[in-house]
Amino acid sequence: MNISYRRAGKDLTRRADFVVCALPFTTLRSIRVSPALRPDKAQMIAETRQHQSSIRVILQLADASCLAPDWNGYGTTEDGLEIWQPTFTMPTRRRLLVLYAQGAAAIPWVALDAERRLQLAADRLDTLFPGVRGCCERATHVCWDEEPWSLGAQSHAGAMSDSERRCAARAEGRIHFAGEHTSAGWMDGALESGHRAAREILDTLNRKSGTALPRASSYQQPPLVLSRTTRV
Ligand SMILES: Cc1cc2nc3c(=O)[nH]c(=O)nc-3n(C[C@H](O)[C@H](O)[C@H](O)COP(=O)(O)OP(=O)(O)OC[C@H]3O[C@@H](n4cnc5c(N)ncnc54)[C@H](O)[C@@H]3O)c2cc1C
Repeated sequence: MNISYRRAGKDLTRRADFVVCALPFTTLRSIRVSPALRPDKAQMIAETRQHQSSIRVILQLADASCLAPDWNGYGTTEDGLEIWQPTFTMPTRRRLLVLYAQGAAAIPWVALDAERRLQLAADRLDTLFPGVRGCCERATHVCWDEEPWSLGAQSHAGAMSDSERRCAARAEGRIHFAGEHTSAGWMDGALESGHRAAREILDTLNRKSGTALPRASSYQQPPLVLSRTTRV
């Protein structure tokens, strides 16, 4: 197989016996694959909306004077926003206050322009912690829908049926697929999918050559240290 890509402005091509494709489908859909993938897989890559929206607005506060002294550093609002104070355990004078929206709660925020997102976040946080606006030194934000290498946040594992996930994970010829969107989701799912893709390739090599390659069935998966409750 030939893989063509651009690095530092140079067009390059590599030949390979196998490919593991771990790109999210959101960006894979703009890459040409020839011959074409099977129709159900091609349609899933082209149309899936599996990557959910996510946005974080971060305010730098001059000090903690406007924050409730007994607040534990985390809270949620009725419309599904999460409020975090990442500096909660730090002895710094300045504080960070984060407004985090994901899934359905993020959609109204994604529709706004960057300036309006910051303004609205400052307004919402000022309602929760009166004085935040006056204390705010600067603000920034990340909107994962606009990140060019993901075009969305983490894949919404719950939005896929088992058959859809099987289709997402299914190898196409010598192209093997990995990544959280081919798994039960999250970082641990992404890791597991990499092991699965490696096993698939080893199985194919063993079937074809009968040589003394490591047997996929004897491959020991290292213990996973991450869980879906792990916060990043
Ligand atoms: C805001 C947020 C919070 C999260 N919180 C948690 C959490 O608490 N716990 C948890 O387990 N998981 C969390 N996740 C999910 C976690 O980040 C993902 O599960 C994990 O990163 C998926 O790994 P992956 O390798 O499948 O995809 P990614 O990490 O997205 O890796 C895909 C890679 O492909 C690259 N790429 C994309 N397109 C191209 C292209 N055309 N050419 C070359 N390279 C390309 C990207 O740059 C990227 O490096 C969170 C994600 C977000 C966005």
